[in-house]
Amino acid sequence: MGKVYDLIILGAGPAGLAAGLYGGRYRLNTLVIEKGQDGGQIAITNEIENYPGQMVDQEESGPSLIARMTKQVEKFGADRVCDTIVKAELQGPVKKLTGVKGDVYEGKTVIIATGAHPRPIGCKNEKEFLGKGISFCATCDANFYEGFEVFVVGGGDSAVEEAMYLTKFARKVTLIHRRDKLRAAESIQEKAFKNEKLHFMWDTVVEEVDGDGIMDTMIVKNVKTGELTTIKADPDDGMFGLFGFIGYLPNTDNLQDCGLEMENGYIKTDDNMHTNIEGVYAAGDVRVKSLRQVVTAAADGAIAASQAEHYCANLE
Ligand code: NAP
Repeated sequence: MGKVYDLIILGAGPAGLAAGLYGGRYRLNTLVIEKGQDGGQIAITNEIENYPGQMVDQEESGPSLIARMTKQVEKFGADRVCDTIVKAELQGPVKKLTGVKGDVYEGKTVIIATGAHPRPIGCKNEKEFLGKGISFCATCDANFYEGFEVFVVGGGDSAVEEAMYLTKFARKVTLIHRRDKLRAAESIQEKAFKNEKLHFMWDTVVEEVDGDGIMDTMIVKNVKTGELTTIKADPDDGMFGLFGFIGYLPNTDNLQDCGLEMENGYIKTDDNMHTNIEGVYAAGDVRVKSLRQVVTAAADGAIAASQAEHYCANLE
């Protein structure tokens, strides 16, 4: 049998990294498995304003905050692996996780901190124009739209904040929302309504996008009247951008058949992050919870690691 870790953490977003930090400090033999870049959703978030203790006098971005968290985890000695887990066997005293190339990782406890991903806009031809006009990351793609027109779908904090960020690059930004009232926090709305480059298209959804290689046409529908409107790119531009920020879906596709109790794809836990399987915990956006923020994800990670430590101590 190969190495059996005390603790394996799936995901290196704020929840996973906090769990890694606490696991390391508890002197648990800890492995953090991440399939892509560290940070999860905040790796693609431009501005973080509400993480306690962050540097308020300097602009804090998701990547800058996550870089400090990663450094802290490394300091306390957790092992790191880049892999996508395709199979999870979570029952019994040794949990087995199988990566995409067949590597098997074994642990006495597992913390699932796989987070969530952006919900697709849901319009016709969406997949075809991903990266060719459609984006879910303003931080990554805003500079491609310097001087162009951009549309943003959504009405929550993310949509409004990212739309404001996009006004720094785009000539004009129009927020398309399915209702006539934003869901975003009042303080965020106040800033948005004062922004002269930001326009609003109410009671509207995107039905279809099109173009010859690059997206230059969009059909939108007024949900109250049913009226369809075709929006064409300015001929001088030949293209426009469409950014989706309409919430998230949990990253649990590869965990569907391992006996975890879920609700709409999110993992159910108690207040101490215990799932229904002994020695298996969930932390951060992937679990059923009322507030999905960096601060609550980090707190979940810390609680889950402390529970893993108690569990391991009782095995000895
Ligand atoms: P959200 O709050 O769930 O908002 C999603 C928005 O997308 C809503 O306006 C919703 O419309 C719309 N929507 C959902 N499904 C849609 C569909 N199929 N078609 C069109 N529109 C659709 O998501 P979020 O803005 O990503 O925020 C997620 C969480 O992170 C929230 O708790 C938020 O407070 C937090 N967050 C906080 C900050 C901050 O504090 N600075 C920044 C970003 C995010 P309806 O309004 O009609 O439901």
